[in-house]
Parts: sequence; C-alpha cells; structure tokens
Amino acid sequence: MQPILYIVIPCYNEQEVLPVTAPMFLQKINDLYIDGKISDQSRILFVNDGSRDKTWDIISELSSLDEHYCGISLSRNQGHQNALLAGLMEAKEKCDISISVDCDGQDDIDAIDKMVDEYLSGSDIVYGVRSDRKTDTKFKRGTAQFFYKLMRAMGADIVYNHADYRLMSKRALETLAEFKEVNLFLRGLVPMVGFKYSSVEYSRKERMAGESKYPLKKMISFAINGITSLSVKPIRLITAFGFIVSALSFIGIIWSIITALVGSSVAGWASTVSIICFFGGVQLLSLGVIGEYIGKIYLEVKGRPRYTIAQKTDDNK
Ligand code: UDP
Ligand code: MG
Repeated sequence: MQPILYIVIPCYNEQEVLPVTAPMFLQKINDLYIDGKISDQSRILFVNDGSRDKTWDIISELSSLDEHYCGISLSRNQGHQNALLAGLMEAKEKCDISISVDCDGQDDIDAIDKMVDEYLSGSDIVYGVRSDRKTDTKFKRGTAQFFYKLMRAMGADIVYNHADYRLMSKRALETLAEFKEVNLFLRGLVPMVGFKYSSVEYSRKERMAGESKYPLKKMISFAINGITSLSVKPIRLITAFGFIVSALSFIGIIWSIITALVGSSVAGWASTVSIICFFGGVQLLSLGVIGEYIGKIYLEVKGRPRYTIAQKTDDNK
C-alpha cells in the first residue's frame, strides 16, 4: 500500500501565483503516483490565510476541477506559521506523509521526489535546505544569514538555511500536535519532535508571481518571536550583565569611599549623572526583556485557539 501524501500550502493574497504553481504541484503528485511511490488518495491542501483577494475563489475552483486539490479557509489572517499548522493538523487525520511548501514556487518542487525517497528509506522528518540563495536580493540574504546566526547564538536550535519546506510523517505530526503553545515557531518546534530525520538540498528560486508577504518588519518580529518563544538565553545574558555591572559598581563604591576619606575631591556632577543614566538604561532594558516573557506567559495561560477554520472545500460538494 503506497503512502498518502498531502502537500500543505499556506496562501495569503496569492491570486497571481496560484494559477501558475497549482498545476505544477498537481503534476508532481501525478508523476509520483505513476512512479508507484504514493497513493492516488494523495492531495494538495491549500490553506487560505484570510486573503483579501480572489485566492479562496481560485482554490474553490481548482477543487471542483480536480479531486486532488482541496482547501481550507481560515476565518482571518493568522500568519504563515498558524496557517501552516492548521493545514498540517487537517492533513494529519488523512495522510501518511505531509510536505509543507510555499505557494510561490520559490522552493524547488522537484525536491519533493527526494523527500519522498528519504521517507521511504525510513526518515520521519526531512528538512529542505537551501543550497544557495543566488536569486534572493543581497539584503534578504544578509538579513536571513544574520537571523540564523542570531537564533543559534540565542539558544534556539534551528536547522541552518531551512525554512518551512519539509516532510513530516503522520507520527511526527501527531507529536507536533502535542505542543500546545500559542506562540508558534515551527522551525524551532519540529526539531523537538525527534524521530529519525534527514535533509535534502535544493536551490532557492525567484518568486514566480506576486510579491513577498514578508517585509522587513514581519521578519524582525518573526525573529524576536522565534527567540523568545524558544529560549531563555536573553534573560540569562541580562542576568550575567547585571552581575558584571554590580561587581564594577561595588569597586566604584569602594573607590569613592576611599577618595572621600582621603578628602582629595568633591564627587563630580557629571559622573553622578552618567551613573544614573547608565542604571536607568540597564534597568529599562532588563524590564523590557522580562516583560516580553511575561507577555508570552500571559498569552500561553489564556490558551487561545491557534486557528479557527471557517470553511472547507468539502462543504461545497
Ligand atoms: N503567507 C501566509 N500568511 C501570511 C504571510 C504569508 O500564509 O500572513 C504564506 C504565503 O502565501 C507564502 C508563504 O507564506 O505561501 C511564504 O510567504 P512569502 O513567499 O511572501 O515569503 P518569502 O518567501 O518572501 O520569505
Ligand atoms: Mg516566498
């Protein structure tokens, strides 16, 4: 019995690119079926992440044209990570393997073959790793590289140059479902799932149509979310910094007492003010970082639903 493959594709305002890439995914599923690697029950599952354009109309139309297409639509824009999770959890019930991929054709679709081969030879998770980023702008490349290095340094265990293009088996998905956190950073969570894993290299292409939904602002908040939802290293750094500053100020106090006892000078106004400013800064910074974590605890305790499905293509049939 061949495994059932679900290709999970989050889409947000992708009306330009969907008509171009959807047939490519279908072709891939057909080829894999003909090669006898996957079952004919395999599907392409689109997740409409609250798009404001015609994305959902296109998905509905595709699903009426070919049974291999299906889709779910979220009640509002919930962000790439949540949309992806919604799709994976939807696929979990029906598939043996899932592959998550962006809908813009940037991630080489042919890598799917290699991922399925890795699965067939026993891997539960297969990471798609970018071998080069020639087609990205220099700026995007630079910031992305900085992002991975910073994440690593801050204690978040993520796979270098791996985005969300990956294969996960049914049991890996079932384990992922056990992670109940609201602040989702899948790249950091998946390695925690465990099981046998491997990786497949592919070269990153240019977007086939439409424009990036990840402007710098979103990328920065993505990085901050990644670090603060995975690691407590920033707090430790602040604590370490606090220790050093305390030690230095202790020496400073002794020094000022000795100077006063010797009676050689009056304490300077400038040094007093700068010390006050310095401590003001350090304290504010610490409060900021601690506040970030308290915010996370707050959201986590509320246990809000991570996504709400409003519609499914099956409803129309
Ligand atoms: N995406 C989404 N919700 C969002 C933003 C993006 O589902 O709020 C999807 C988008 O449709 C695409 C994928 O996430 O399939 C990656 O986005 P994009 O290609 O714009 O990012 P980039 O490749 O530029 O980093
Ligand atoms: Mg893209």
